[in-house]
Amino acid sequence: MSDAPDRIIAPDFNAADAPEASLRPQRLDDFIGQRTVCENLSIFIQAARGRDEALDHTIFFGPPGLGKTTLAQIVARELGVSFRMTSGPVLAKAGDLAALLTNLQPRDVLFIDEIHRLHPAVEEILYPAMEDYQLDLIIGEGPAARSIRIDLPPFTLVGATTRTGLITAPLRERFGIPLRLNFYSEAELQRIVERGAKGLDMALESDGAAEIARRSRGTPRVAGRLLRRVRDFASVAGHTMVDAAIADGALAKLDIDALGLDEMDRRFLRCIAENYGGGPVGADTLAVALAEQRDAIEEVIEPYLIQQGLIQRTARGRMLALKGWAYLGLDAPSRIAEQPDLLDQNDPLEAGNG
Ligand code: ADP
Repeated sequence: MSDAPDRIIAPDFNAADAPEASLRPQRLDDFIGQRTVCENLSIFIQAARGRDEALDHTIFFGPPGLGKTTLAQIVARELGVSFRMTSGPVLAKAGDLAALLTNLQPRDVLFIDEIHRLHPAVEEILYPAMEDYQLDLIIGEGPAARSIRIDLPPFTLVGATTRTGLITAPLRERFGIPLRLNFYSEAELQRIVERGAKGLDMALESDGAAEIARRSRGTPRVAGRLLRRVRDFASVAGHTMVDAAIADGALAKLDIDALGLDEMDRRFLRCIAENYGGGPVGADTLAVALAEQRDAIEEVIEPYLIQQGLIQRTARGRMLALKGWAYLGLDAPSRIAEQPDLLDQNDPLEAGNG
């Protein structure tokens, strides 16, 4: 997925996030937020351990940076098994997946990130592997080709996807445990920021942590990144303790406003308002108008704007919501102001309308 590389609040992983690995929570008990997901996981893990069986295949849905990879690693650690990681686009051939699967030990966790981007030929050999722990491979080509069947150890596939709508039905059905991650509350993010500050040996007042949390788009990865940038500003300015005013000053310099929106978000909202009268406008049109990739718009920019009630995704395209007009300091056109339920025709399937 692409996003402007210098966009500090992009929730997808980039090289500047390498230090985040050391701040990852290691056990379910350290994992802040996503209470229901963690409680359910804890029960399923205990049950699988008690029976000495592999945990059912598990899939995490949710926008980037919410902790899908972290939870997958925690699952392996709590099960006391090894963790192997790959991602959908990396597995180009059936053989790439076969090599990983045949190297697993019983009950190991194989994590496939961006599983909605699996090549169809790879996805097909995953079905019998998930269902019957069997691998059907074709060896050779033409008349000499023959198929062989290999038994696999029972294992757990953990998938992660940012795009619920793009995962095929046969694949989705093979996951016994589907779990959806949601944006974090400010209180949860504040605890994550405070924990991160401790890990960085940084003196942070609780109002400073709250200020960072408020502007982190409900996303732990963004919170971690803002925390490190605030620390940079503070240390160059010679502050030994970071409070709300110092955090606010640093975040303002990074051009992140009180809602956690940056210039890219504002450009997106203004484009719908000024060029398309508030919408509805399709994702492809917006992608061209903003010179952004459609994936980045759908996976990175929109989910948070929707969660904040600034835009809505309707069957006919994106529309600026009343709150979005207010945010831009513009008057909503009368058709929206008088008929807000125009906006209620949410598109249940996020895929395919553009
Ligand atoms: P995803 O796989 O969903 O993109 P990650 O699991 O890579 O997200 O998490 C992104 C960053 O946020 C990691 O540095 C991780 O340590 C941190 N993080 C995610 N969830 C939490 C949490 N609940 N508590 C503390 N840190 C978290």
